[in-house]
Amino acid sequence: MGKKDEGCAIGIDLGTTYSCVAVWNDQQRRVDIIHNEQGNPITPSYVAFTDDQRLIGLAAKNQAATNPENTVFDAKRLIGRKYSDPIIKNDMMLWPFKVIAGVDDKPMIVVKYHGKEKHLFAEEISSMVLTKMCEIAETYLESPVKNAVITVPAYFNDSQRKATIDAGTIAGLNVKRIINEPTAAAIAYGLDKRSDCKKPRNIFIFDLGGGTFDVSLLSIKGKDFKVKATAGNTHLGGEDFDNRMVNYFVEEFKRKSKLDISGNPKALRRLRSACERAKRTLSSTTCTTVEVDCLYQGIDFCSSITRARFEELNMDMFRECIETVDRCLNDAKMDKSSVDDVVLVGGSSRIPKVQELLQEFFKGKDLCKSINPDEAVAYGAAVQAALLSGSIKNVPNLVLSDVTPLSLGTSLKGDIMSVVIPRNTTIPVKKTKGYMTVKDNQTSVLIAVYEGERAIASDNNLLGSFVLSGIPRAPRGNGHDICFAIDENGVLTVSAKEQTTGSKNEITITNDKGRLSTQEIKRLVQEAESYLAEDKQFLRKANAMNSLDDYIYKMKKALKNDCINLKLSSKEKEKISSAITKATSLLDGGNNKAYEIQVLEDYVKELEIMFKPIIAKIDLFSSFY
Ligand code: AMP
Repeated sequence: MGKKDEGCAIGIDLGTTYSCVAVWNDQQRRVDIIHNEQGNPITPSYVAFTDDQRLIGLAAKNQAATNPENTVFDAKRLIGRKYSDPIIKNDMMLWPFKVIAGVDDKPMIVVKYHGKEKHLFAEEISSMVLTKMCEIAETYLESPVKNAVITVPAYFNDSQRKATIDAGTIAGLNVKRIINEPTAAAIAYGLDKRSDCKKPRNIFIFDLGGGTFDVSLLSIKGKDFKVKATAGNTHLGGEDFDNRMVNYFVEEFKRKSKLDISGNPKALRRLRSACERAKRTLSSTTCTTVEVDCLYQGIDFCSSITRARFEELNMDMFRECIETVDRCLNDAKMDKSSVDDVVLVGGSSRIPKVQELLQEFFKGKDLCKSINPDEAVAYGAAVQAALLSGSIKNVPNLVLSDVTPLSLGTSLKGDIMSVVIPRNTTIPVKKTKGYMTVKDNQTSVLIAVYEGERAIASDNNLLGSFVLSGIPRAPRGNGHDICFAIDENGVLTVSAKEQTTGSKNEITITNDKGRLSTQEIKRLVQEAESYLAEDKQFLRKANAMNSLDDYIYKMKKALKNDCINLKLSSKEKEKISSAITKATSLLDGGNNKAYEIQVLEDYVKELEIMFKPIIAKIDLFSSFY
């Protein structure tokens, strides 16, 4: 595009396994899905650390088999969760990288970088992926990008949303809005459709990705995109299907070779890659092979799997998807026959059995496959980003109203959940409910904030708590108000006010459970900048070494071809030989990190001046041969 636009805002689909970035192209009145340096619209959400450098995206994924302990993925499965969360415990058994408990039970990822052990928050890993997506956009737009809309699963809870905003801040981005993935996909789908809908059109989005599953029911009329209900599972997707296949083949390998690879990260990583490939193949064929050379202790692994066996291994999860669809329609109080379009989004929605079960549920209705399942979410995010940036003229006008995925409330005496905002309430929303003291002369109240659908408060997810103090002494039954406010990002703020004396005593949850503090974020932003600086240094050194290597090659060629064309004097030959010796020793030193980048660059410059005439002759010579 090559157009300078300082205020440009991008849309980022920050996926569990892949991420995608898009921007609104105002001249062409369309969304551009931005391809990465490999020419792909999607980039693996992987970050790897080595002794020399940090890698993000495909480069990180490609070296995963040889450096499994320091190649991190699935940060989205960790973000906003506690280390002691049973879901994390289960995942950890399958991850080749190490996760330990940090302060406040926050999970910390342990890697070795530049020979030293580093502990990283999931937010930091996600911020690195976001930085990469931002760089891809900047290369395409040829201008810096600061503003972004980031998508999250509709079923992400309050901590997961806040942690995603923090990841954006660490990446140096101004997160203009967090929007739900199925809602973003609905924008991508609904923009074309809304022109032909005079009456509201009910669109059901089925979004099955790499790590999360979301469904949303929307009603579109003209410019209004209104979410009616949403449901999902933030821990169900393609990776779970891969894991089932991995476990199946681990058992088979055990039977055949009497060897257990379940504790070997390298073998598991290679088997998982082969299984993911096989899974994709099974979406278009009914049988495929899984082969891994030297899987473990020099033993090759070769087997096959049918589509029927793959389906059998995952049927419980496929059925869970359909139950979630049913729950969402129930919540919206809508019969399935009222749904106009069922739209497939997310890479795993390509699985034939999933499509078959879904079609069966909707009584044989054709499923809409017209939008690209990998790109739709970033597409919608880019439209929303353009709308929020305000300065863009031709962006289609639409008004989004989303819902909160989980009920929010506080606990009453006896651990009873008192819901203030029920799930599927349209956001933004602000609701106040009155409560009373339960003891005589009570001067303070502990207000615990929960999210979830269970009747017993402590069975739900505790988001945080705070104390409302300064209540005047009085018999029990003294009133106070608790106000719950959810903003456009789905982020919650709770405040309380003492009422009997009319005096205000308002407290807001600011640093709730597990969230990074302002100081921590500040420190991480600085660290992110130093990572970038280190990456740049690494590239500078690699470029200098490549140039030096190039010179050695050309100079050797000059000596070798001397008799044919170049007619070098013996003084020139001597000069070249000694330059080759010096450059070679610098290169060897460079590999061993003994030399500063400046020394390498200076010698490259020296060679440039010294050999300009000779190199010109060689280049001319090379163009003829
Ligand atoms: P997403 O998070 O939407 O990028 O989806 C990524 C997931 O989709 C990964 O688990 C992929 O293995 C899976 N996927 C992509 N293509 C296919 C396919 N043809 N069949 C089955 N799964 C697929």
